[in-house]
This record gives sequence, C-alpha cells and structure tokens, in this order.
Amino acid sequence: MASDRRDQAVRAAVEQALLSDSEPVVALLDIAGIRASAAALRAAFAAVARPPARVLHAFAVKAAPLVPVLRLLHREGLGAEVASPGELALARAARVRADRTVLDSPAKTPAELREALALGIAVNADNAQELDRIDALLSTLRTTSPIGLRVNAQVGGGTIGALSTATATSKFGVALRDEGARQWVVRAFVERPWLTRLHTHSGSQGMPLALLVAGVREVYDLAEEINAAVGRRQVDTIDIGGGLPVNFASDEETPTYEEYARLLAAEVPGLFDGRYGLVTEFGRSLLAKHGTVLARVEYTKTSGARPIAVTHAGVQVATRTVYDPASWPLRIAAYDAKGLPRTGPAVDQDVAGPACFAGDLLAVQRPLPLLAQGDIVAALDTGAYYFAHHYAYNSLPRPGVYGFVVRPDGAVRFATVRPPQRVAEIVAESGGDQRDALLLE
Ligand SMILES: *Cc1c(COP(=O)(O)O)cnc(C)c1O
Repeated sequence: MASDRRDQAVRAAVEQALLSDSEPVVALLDIAGIRASAAALRAAFAAVARPPARVLHAFAVKAAPLVPVLRLLHREGLGAEVASPGELALARAARVRADRTVLDSPAKTPAELREALALGIAVNADNAQELDRIDALLSTLRTTSPIGLRVNAQVGGGTIGALSTATATSKFGVALRDEGARQWVVRAFVERPWLTRLHTHSGSQGMPLALLVAGVREVYDLAEEINAAVGRRQVDTIDIGGGLPVNFASDEETPTYEEYARLLAAEVPGLFDGRYGLVTEFGRSLLAKHGTVLARVEYTKTSGARPIAVTHAGVQVATRTVYDPASWPLRIAAYDAKGLPRTGPAVDQDVAGPACFAGDLLAVQRPLPLLAQGDIVAALDTGAYYFAHHYAYNSLPRPGVYGFVVRPDGAVRFATVRPPQRVAEIVAESGGDQRDALLLE
C-alpha cells in the first residue's frame, strides 16, 4: 500500500541521511506507484476498446518535467505531450520517439513548428493563424507529422477557474460554439487533406468527469461531421487531452482511469469501435499521488497563542497551495526526528515555509500531533505541479528529487532524479558572471 511505502521511505531518508543540514528539504518519488498508475491507464483504455484501438498515452510533460520520470513512463509504454521547446528537449533527452510525441503549445513560433514538422512530431494547431503558418511551411518541406486542430467545446468550467479550458472565453483552441466557428472548422478540414486529427483538453483539477466526457463527445461528433462532409475518414485520430482530477483529501485514488474510460465508452461508444486512433494526455493523475516533499522542522514557536512549525518547505515547492490555499489544500503528515510517524493528540497549528512573507504557509490551523524541533513534515500528493515546478523566491534552492523502491525485505533504495541546486548555481543563474553589467556610464 502506498502509505506504508511512504512511511518506509521517510524512515530510510532519515537513516540514509538524505535529509541533512545542507539538504533540509527533499522530494521523493514512489517508483512502484508511478508504474502502477501507468499500467492502470493502459489497462483502462485497453479494456473498453474493441477491437484494440491504436492508443497513444502521451504524458503531459508539464506535470512533472523531469527526464528520469519521462524515461520511466516511456518504459511503461507512454509517450509525451509537450508544450514548449524546453519540454520537447526533455522528452528527447528521455529518448521518447518522435512518433510518440505530441506538440500542443498555444504559442508556437515558426521555428518551433518547423522543428516539430522536421522531426515528425504530431502537432495540434491552436487557431486559424497557426494553420496558415503550417500551410506555408508545408509548401516548402515534407513531413510525417500527423497534424490536428485543437477545439474548445465550450462545455463549461470546473471548480478552479485558472485550470478550466473549456469555458466560453478560454484562450485555447477554436471556440466551437462561436458564431460561424463550426462551419469554419469543417471548411478548414475540407481544404486541407493533411489535417487528420482533432484535439481537445477541457480542463484539469476541478473538472467533473461528466464535463470532461461532454467535451470529448462534442469533438467526436465534430469528427463525424467533418468525415461526412469530405466523404472519407480524413479525421483518423481524436486526442482527448488529460485532466483526470486527483483526490488530495486521502490516500484513495479516485476517480480512476477505469471509471473515466467506462464512462467515455458508455457516452461516446464510437470512439472505441476501431475507426479512430486515440491520444490521451494525462499529467496530474499519473504522478500526483506518488510524490512527497519532506522538510525538517527547524524551529517551533507560538504566535497569538497559535503553535507554528517553521519548516523548509513553503512557496518554493508548493506555490499553488501557498498562493491559493482554498483551491489547493495539501495533506501534511508528521514524523519524528527518526522518521517514525508522530503520534499524540491533534493540536491546531500552522505549518510554515522558509520564505520571507507572511503568507508562506503550507497549512493553517491544521490539527496534527504537536510538532517539535527536528521533526519532519511530509507534504503529500506533490508529485505533479509541485516540487518539480520550483519558484525561486528568496533565492531558495531547488531541492533534490529522489526516486525510491522498497525491496521485499523492506530495504529502501534511493536514486537521484534531480540533484539539489547548489548556491553557486543560484549565483550563476542570477547574473553572477555579469557582475559589472549595470555599471554603465
Ligand atoms: C495541462 C495539459 C494536460 C494535462 O492536464 P492534467 O490535468 O495534468 O492531466 C493535457 N493536455 C493539455 C493540452 C494541457 O494543457
């Protein structure tokens, strides 16, 4: 069970001195958990596709932009969805093949498009101007890239506005319900025989499954309409995006890929009857539950009679939680200095980060066994969009990221995924070599 593995890993992190004076905050990735999620994803879609469909599960690199993670997922049969030159470079560094890579960024430059087409990477165009650019590029180069168009089915938003991409005014894709848009899309396909895919991604955390399914249904109907208009199966692949929400309230992994795939199969059966290839782009749901931030409690104090534990994990590793705690509450687990689960009556206390602003709090008035100096706090479910998304406030260093496996005999083995950032690197990245740059007369 995941929480047992986590407890074993925390204890081993103490015993093996992963946590130390020089590294008072580290991030852990549960390799077995990641593999299990990847397997669950593949099994869920394989179970509903009859006959077995061509499915590419492209991991949304932005959720965990770490080369060894991409490599592990690649080993588990997944590809990569990228949305910037950096993410594409990470996928290539992980040796993800071009034909298992999908480029989706909303602001691709001509150079990025040219590179993707030259490499044979699937490209989803975001808008009419991007299609024009691709028209021009295709007149000068040959490509094996499948090319698609992203549409916004405008099915509505979820509970987190910033992550809702299918609202009436979302910035992504062609807004399908706008006046004349649907006819324009059909014509765009009629005029471009090489345009063979439709793409949608209706949102991320906070989207109910029914709304995700509604978005996919809209895009499937559009594919059928386009293919009827051109009189052949021009749209041969539908990219349904990612967005499966994650349960941040307990260790339970809900909703499951199986639930989502079954609901899709019930509501959009044509998607799975073998006529269409499928692409998925899950991110958070593959990684979130398998990451943990561990931080030492440096000091404890009280303020206004409230106990506060001052730790080394704050806004630099949990940016969303610190700035928008209502949308992104994180579970905190308490361990003693030996790495054993701390017991004792729950006391409301704040768990603070190291940054110099008052709001740098991982948790406020959280009932936990009273933390003591030298204890360890664990910020759970932080495998996606947390420690891999460092925020450089106060020039705090990027913590080291370590994968772990628990052997049958209980021994825990760690592997470095990303070494901790050194102070000298912070200086170099902060203009250290340009010391005199502003001393212009
Ligand atoms: C962010 C994003 C995803 C992944 O979303 P998750 O909620 O992490 O599954 C997939 N596709 C696109 C286009 C995205 O922008």
